[in-house]
Amino acid sequence: MKNEKKRDDEVEISRDEYERAISNSPKYTSLLVSPDRDFLLSPDDTQVKVSDLEGKVIGIYFSANWYPPCRSFNNLLINTYEQLKSCNSEFEIVFVSSDEDVDAFNTFRAGMPWLAIPFSDVEAKKALNGRFDVEGIPCLVILQPNNNKDDATLHDGVELIYRYGVQAFPFTKERLEELQEEERKKQESQTISSLLVSIDRDVLLSHPNNKQVPIASLVGKTIGLYFSAKWCIPGMKFTPKLISIYKKIKELLREVVDDDQDFEIVYVSNDSNEIEFKSEFNTMPWLALPFGDDANKNLAKYFDVRGIPSLIILGPNGKTVTKNGRNLINLYQQNAYPFTEARVDMLEKKMDDEAKNLPKSEFHAGHKHELSLVSQGSGGGPFICCDCEEQGSGWAYQCIQCGYEVHPKCVKAVERDAYNSDH
Ligand SMILES: [Zn+2]
Ligand SMILES: [Zn+2]
Repeated sequence: MKNEKKRDDEVEISRDEYERAISNSPKYTSLLVSPDRDFLLSPDDTQVKVSDLEGKVIGIYFSANWYPPCRSFNNLLINTYEQLKSCNSEFEIVFVSSDEDVDAFNTFRAGMPWLAIPFSDVEAKKALNGRFDVEGIPCLVILQPNNNKDDATLHDGVELIYRYGVQAFPFTKERLEELQEEERKKQESQTISSLLVSIDRDVLLSHPNNKQVPIASLVGKTIGLYFSAKWCIPGMKFTPKLISIYKKIKELLREVVDDDQDFEIVYVSNDSNEIEFKSEFNTMPWLALPFGDDANKNLAKYFDVRGIPSLIILGPNGKTVTKNGRNLINLYQQNAYPFTEARVDMLEKKMDDEAKNLPKSEFHAGHKHELSLVSQGSGGGPFICCDCEEQGSGWAYQCIQCGYEVHPKCVKAVERDAYNSDH
């Protein structure tokens, strides 16, 4: 009797140990269940057992309907998911909602072809957010089957889907290394022609009347690829500025004796239709890819253009000089040309020297607090100028109280008294 009891205890202890071992290294699918739920919701609201996901690559997708970046990523994810499903890839997505109420959850989920944690399971959603340190949405965490070690889990699924789409599957470290290697090779062999010429087209459009210009004539020039569209609101402000700076650069180059140097811009359109394309291109003094040509989309993907307007600069050898052309135009106008690292270093140094003579603080027309001069190294950093609404970096006048920030060139200095009399 005594012996038997002892044996029972031993069995108990070893089961405890077994369970502890399980909970220390749970199957990755166990993250998706809760004490009283072993299922997920399918798009038609039927219950799908979590255990059905065994063996699949799983994307845990943190998102919410109210946040525009989530909605635009969601469309891309649906597209990627459907492509993967159509070739029977062992992949599943589980939506973890940050929606405000169940109606918003249902609205968002109506377009999703994948599974979801029920909206009411607040604890499970909280636990998943905590488990993967989710700091912002959209966030896509990718788990590998049969490998729940933290270093097999990818947290930058959103980035990978934007960058590589279905190519990224199955999202293993090995696959990503392959993709990076392919990318490196492509960039090494990049030329103007490899970027712009297609099987049935070796020309670009120019004014007037869409006259054709051979792409070969761009070899040896500094080229800006300008990604924009008529519907693009920041583009409405930036395009006229770029036109005026383009003309100034062309003028400067005409004065330079060295006629090896030339500059050209090619419009890479994201317009919704040909009428809008034509009306936009008609305002531009440079070249364009034909509307609807695959190169428009391929270039945006190749250069990983996430937002427009965007200006990518290629050097005379066709290699990428900078993806930051828009920012450099905003900071340095025509002086940014030819956009090289050496040029930017020189301009930064010049800006640092000039900043030494700027007042440490200013009152700016239209803002009630005093602004302080900051640099990248002293509290500043990349910002959006509250005056011209364009990007900035390096030096800025910043309001310590409310974060208002403007380019030094955008400050309209006023006397402190102008505000004291108001207050
Ligand atoms: Zn500004
Ligand atoms: Zn302020």
